[in-house]
This record gives sequence, C-alpha cells and structure tokens, in this order.
Amino acid sequence: MVRPKYELPGNLRPTSLGERRRFYAAKMDYRAAATWMARPKAGRVYALILGRHSGIYPRRFRHLKNVPLVIDDVEDVWELRPYLLRYLPEGVYYDRNVYAPLETTRSAHLDYAHAWQSRFFRGQELAFDLDPENLDCPIHGDIRAKMARHQGLSFCDWEFEEIRRQAADLFDELEREWSRLRVVYSGRGFHIHVFDDAAFPLTRKERATIARGFARRYALDEWVTSGEMRLIRLPYSLHGMVSRIVIPVPRGRLESFRYDDPKAVPRL
Ligand SMILES: [Zn+2]
Repeated sequence: MVRPKYELPGNLRPTSLGERRRFYAAKMDYRAAATWMARPKAGRVYALILGRHSGIYPRRFRHLKNVPLVIDDVEDVWELRPYLLRYLPEGVYYDRNVYAPLETTRSAHLDYAHAWQSRFFRGQELAFDLDPENLDCPIHGDIRAKMARHQGLSFCDWEFEEIRRQAADLFDELEREWSRLRVVYSGRGFHIHVFDDAAFPLTRKERATIARGFARRYALDEWVTSGEMRLIRLPYSLHGMVSRIVIPVPRGRLESFRYDDPKAVPRL
C-alpha cells in the first residue's frame, strides 16, 4: 500500500507502476502528442522523471529515480513508447528548446543545460507555469507555510479554482500580444504555451523581464518563463502524482474545467 506523501483534493492520488504500464501501453494518445510536438519541425529532446515526488519507481532504476532521464534519440513521440514502458516514469517532459537536427546535436555531445550559446540552439518555446502551491491559501497558508509542513506539492480545491481563474486571466492578457496560445491542465495547475514564431527567438533577458512582470500578479513559476527551467510536461502524458492526463483545455471551457473532467481521468 502506497501512502500518499501529499494532501490532494478529490480522489487525486499517485499512480502505481501497473497503472503507468497500462496507460503507456494502451491508453496514451500518442498521435495527439505527436501533433503537439510537430511545430516547429526541429530537433526535440524529452526527459523522464521516474519517482522523485511519488517515491514510486521500478526498483532496478533506483539510482535514476530523482534525475531527469534525457532522451535525445526519438524523432516522433510514438518512439518514446518503449522508453515509457521500460522506465514507467511518474512524469514525462519535453525540452522547450528547439535544436538543430537531433543527429548533429547528439553527435556534438551538446550539454542541453547550457545550450543557449551553442550553434545547435534554435530558440525556445515561451511558456507560463501557474502552480497552486504559489498561492496564499486562506486554509493552508503561503508557500513558506506549506514547505515548512513538507506539503510544497499539496493543493486544495480553493487553490485549484483560484489557479484556474488566474490561468483564464493570464491567457486573455497574453492574447493582446500573442496569437497562438494554448492552455494545458498540468495535473495540478495550468500551463500556457506560446507558439507564435516571434516568441521562439526571445533572449534570456527579454524572457526574464516578461517573467518578472507577470509574477507580480500571478502565481507563476518565474524559472519556466525566464527559460532557466526548460522542461515542461508533455501533453497527453500521465501525471503520476495525481493520476491525471496532462490535457489541453480550450479557452472557452477553462472556467468550468475540473480535475475530474472525463478527458483528464485515465481509465486504468
Ligand atoms: Zn489550500
């Protein structure tokens, strides 16, 4: 029996390894994920986190449980499947950096963490990560109080509804400047992705300025927008801490979206 480490609302709970296996064997919509990753067409890199937050991971990979396992030899999301079935990760991410064709990038042994100055770097997808833990909750307190109780990843219904409201507001505000926006339910909060061509070449400095501006008014993870944190959850993958599918939500449906939405609940 797995004891949840975090307090989660509704029936959210960590997934077992068996559930992860069933999901990645037969339930994941690989085609939709491939469509998501198809733009822009360039070298893309993925990363798996095996069991860092849930403590659930295949025992033989104990030495890998906390570190992002980088995958840079798949051209299509479908080719991720053997890796997902082997490692049964708690989380699946992609690198928002866009690289030169993977073959050249890989053979140069590029250090992906320091890619910005390299000749293989082609830009980065701009994204905004709205996290419920960054909110000051009337019941659970602010992030410091939550961390002090070792509940930094917990959230409640009040926090979910507030972060959803912020995601809608931020989307509408970003729409004044950008036109190709998508919002994604991330399992706990929401991500907003910017696919405009003009967003990819933004510099680190420009991103940091954008991040700082919005973080004053939204429960944003600044590191994601500034580009420091490159990884973001792959839509249509499974969030193994809450047993929910990471799923795009149309802006028009955002206000009524719940974490028990039929599209987000995996039938395991
Ligand atoms: Zn709360």
